[in-house]
Amino acid sequence: MRGLLAIALSCLAACAPVRAPAPLPGEPVAADVALLRGRFVPGAQPDGNTVLLRAPAGWIVVDSGRHPEHTARILESVRASGLPLRVVLNTHWHMDHVAGNAMLRAAHPRAQVWASPELGRALDGFLADYARQLDAMLAGAAPGDAQAQALRAERARIAAGPRLLPTHPLTAGGAHAWAGRRIVLGVETGAVSGGDVWLFDPASGVLVAGDLVTLPAPLFDTACAEGWRAALARLEAVPFTTLVPGHGAPMDRAGFARYWRAFDRLLECAARDGAAAGCREAWLRDADGLIAAGDLALARSLLDHYLPHVLRAPSERRARHCRSAG
Ligand SMILES: [Zn+2]
Repeated sequence: MRGLLAIALSCLAACAPVRAPAPLPGEPVAADVALLRGRFVPGAQPDGNTVLLRAPAGWIVVDSGRHPEHTARILESVRASGLPLRVVLNTHWHMDHVAGNAMLRAAHPRAQVWASPELGRALDGFLADYARQLDAMLAGAAPGDAQAQALRAERARIAAGPRLLPTHPLTAGGAHAWAGRRIVLGVETGAVSGGDVWLFDPASGVLVAGDLVTLPAPLFDTACAEGWRAALARLEAVPFTTLVPGHGAPMDRAGFARYWRAFDRLLECAARDGAAAGCREAWLRDADGLIAAGDLALARSLLDHYLPHVLRAPSERRARHCRSAG
């Protein structure tokens, strides 16, 4: 009798219809974690990567992109899944990671938006300066200028600033349960943007690093290089198996170790006398295997800008973004 019961119970378990999980949108990174790759091509404004985490009660979206085409891919992924969008996390305030917030919130007004409050400060500072530059360029643009259309769209994204702000400002890291999924956040205040948030998902071992890791080269525009170097040491201490950068392809721990070492060596090279081209080519060698063959020209052009204009700028310029590091 006991044997029959055992067979019946095992059949109950084995014969119950098992619903296969719905396929993930974009590129799969791990179970219930997908990547929508941002575009980063010479001559155009980039979109940052978006990471989608499927939680029991809906989606967690990390970064919303810049261009409407990118954000539309997020919205379509969410719509096709039949699950609600519950949380948007912005890794930092750069337009290629936050501008899509307005579209996401218009479609999902109940979604929470978590981010560093640094965007508010940037709207009064860096982004206000940028808006003035755009206005000056637009004032001189000829009617029908194709480039002017892109500038006008960028100007409109900055004007939408208040709609990009977080509903839940984040000033410290910690553990959260979002839509039934446990995640861990870290906040870096003196690295890339003054307020860089990373997300670690213990269930999958995925670390979403935002622009604390970028390919094909580090993007130093608003960075404190030394603070960034220190933040990379803290990322190394996170027990991740896969790291998704803000731009570029996911990497394993060995890939991150290579990136960190290449970053260190780039700063050391920039601090020494010697041709900038030598530092640039050393970066390409040190980061070999992380940079897609099609991105070598972009990597060179980025470093040809950052080496003289940021890394070797007068110390006052270099320290400009280090004020909140302490
Ligand atoms: Zn970015």
